[in-house]
Amino acid sequence: MQKIPVGISACLLGEEVRYDGGHKHSPYCTKVLSNYFEFLPLCPELQAGLGVPRPTIHLEQQGEALRLVEVKGDGDHTEAMNDWITATLDGLSHLRGYILMAKSPSCGMERIRIYDPQGQVLHRDGRGMFASALMQRFPLMPVEEEGRLNDSHLRENFIERVFVYDEWMRLEAEGLTAAALVAFHTRHKFQLKAHSENAYRQLGQKIANLKTAPIGLIAEQYISAFMQAMARQIRRGSHAHVMQSMMGYLRDVLEPVEKQMLLEQIEAYRREEVPLIVPMTLLRMAQRRQPAAYLENQGYLSPYPDALGLRNRV
Ligand code: SF4
Repeated sequence: MQKIPVGISACLLGEEVRYDGGHKHSPYCTKVLSNYFEFLPLCPELQAGLGVPRPTIHLEQQGEALRLVEVKGDGDHTEAMNDWITATLDGLSHLRGYILMAKSPSCGMERIRIYDPQGQVLHRDGRGMFASALMQRFPLMPVEEEGRLNDSHLRENFIERVFVYDEWMRLEAEGLTAAALVAFHTRHKFQLKAHSENAYRQLGQKIANLKTAPIGLIAEQYISAFMQAMARQIRRGSHAHVMQSMMGYLRDVLEPVEKQMLLEQIEAYRREEVPLIVPMTLLRMAQRRQPAAYLENQGYLSPYPDALGLRNRV
């Protein structure tokens, strides 16, 4: 399998680039995700010229302007950071996702403290300068903080989005056609349905009316709504509902006892007694034994490599 290009805060790979010369090595990134992702490590502060070690910096609200300033002393690194961001962002359009280090005035994705010029906290709803520019420039790109990947649901959701976004980007690179768009939608129908019944219905209608606008425009609107829907956490009830829908296509394949077992395990999953992998394995076994054409190649059955073990924990 070709690895998927994903950006990452360099300190998470163990690079000693933090203000104090330290790092924030993430074993999950280097030992697990690195088997599937080709990481592009970036350290905005180092690469903007702040050096290692460097003074501690934070985000300061000065009137309308947000400045990246030294906590002690009067150094202001806003222009240097903005220049680096401007020079760098264009080169990141090939990335299929980004993993950021939390709590950083450069890389933090959320809950970053914003100070007033007297050093008092104004609020805690800020975003790091680089993270903010990255997410504005690439609104469809899955972005997550490394610390949040400890939550099995957020981790599963992020990785699912990286894989599906990668597939979309490869389609785009090959030149998107109406047939390719329909095939993409068909493959991800059940995933979409699990994330958002509403988006599933609306995007289904869009795909059914491909002649209403140029294909490029429809594709742009489609993937924007699709990625937004995929960012929504799937509730247990939605997974259960989708698995029951899939069972309908396997009606003739399942023996009565298998059907009973599958229904029991879907209900056990709904009651949080077993993880998703349990009913999903039964579904996949039935599909593998005697494939139903409609379920062939469904992304929902295999959204990422099994070895990641993500469905054992949700
Ligand atoms: S959080 Fe970002 S800016 Fe800070 S050391 Fe890590 S990569 Fe560099």
